[in-house]
Amino acid sequence: MSEEAPASTRVIASAWTTAIVREVDRSTEGYVRLRLEVADRQDHVPGQHYVLRLRAPDGYTAQRSYSIASDPADPLVELMVECLPRGEVSSFLHDIVEVGDELEARGPIGRWFVWGGTTPSICVAGGSGVVPFVSMLRYARRTGTDANLTVVASAQTRARLPYADELETAGAFIALTRENHPLPDGSERVAAHLYPDEVAALADGVERAYVCGSVGFVSFVGRILGEAGVRSDMVRVEQFGPTS
Ligand SMILES: Cc1cc2nc3c(=O)[nH]c(=O)nc-3n(C[C@H](O)[C@H](O)[C@H](O)COP(=O)(O)OP(=O)(O)OC[C@H]3O[C@@H](n4cnc5c(N)ncnc54)[C@H](O)[C@@H]3O)c2cc1C
Repeated sequence: MSEEAPASTRVIASAWTTAIVREVDRSTEGYVRLRLEVADRQDHVPGQHYVLRLRAPDGYTAQRSYSIASDPADPLVELMVECLPRGEVSSFLHDIVEVGDELEARGPIGRWFVWGGTTPSICVAGGSGVVPFVSMLRYARRTGTDANLTVVASAQTRARLPYADELETAGAFIALTRENHPLPDGSERVAAHLYPDEVAALADGVERAYVCGSVGFVSFVGRILGEAGVRSDMVRVEQFGPTS
């Protein structure tokens, strides 16, 4: 797969379509996982996102971006949404949406924060920032390109980390800030934010770094990647922040 988004997605990105909710899963604390059947769907490249638009009976609309978690070969588009306190769109998706509902969707979108399998990369996520990296991991495992992908996921606790089981099975490095956690080599990582040394070891030999999460998280990781010798022109960032 090309490292760039296909030209067709530039066309569909401007067109709204219908997404029927086929599965709803609220098993991760504070999150809802939605699996959508998107009409006139275009293939995505791992790392891309959709925009969902909610419409009230009085015509008021609100739209927000959500990264795609599914592999491009998955017949459904999977999103994982963190329910933010007083969040207009995320709390509706978390609390109200049910199987069979229809949402307005536009996508796939994004031509920069994409990974096509060929570039040795490290992906560093904070909380819901792990979602685009789950798509990359699923794609990598299906295509046998997983040697090119190192995923690092940080969260307060394991229960608050979406896809924790799948990440562990795939060998992702998990850094919890409020719980000790076993590492892939069998040792135990003491609860803490990511250390520069552990990021440096994981980033050894990569040609690109992807960072996704809150504004504070991406700034913190940008600093420690720099200390680890990853040049800023190798780093691609996606920030999940206030919509203003
Ligand atoms: C490219 C892209 C991809 C994204 N992918 C995902 C994803 O996969 N999963 C996901 O859960 N979110 C994702 N987001 C964030 C998402 O678009 C919304 O910003 C988020 O769901 C909040 O919207 P809301 O309407 O619920 O909150 P709002 O009503 O917009 O805000 C409610 C309150 O939360 C604050 N706030 C808003 N957004 C955030 C945030 N992200 N973190 C902390 N505080 C916030 C606001 O300042 C306000 O105080 C993505 C954003 C971008 C730009």
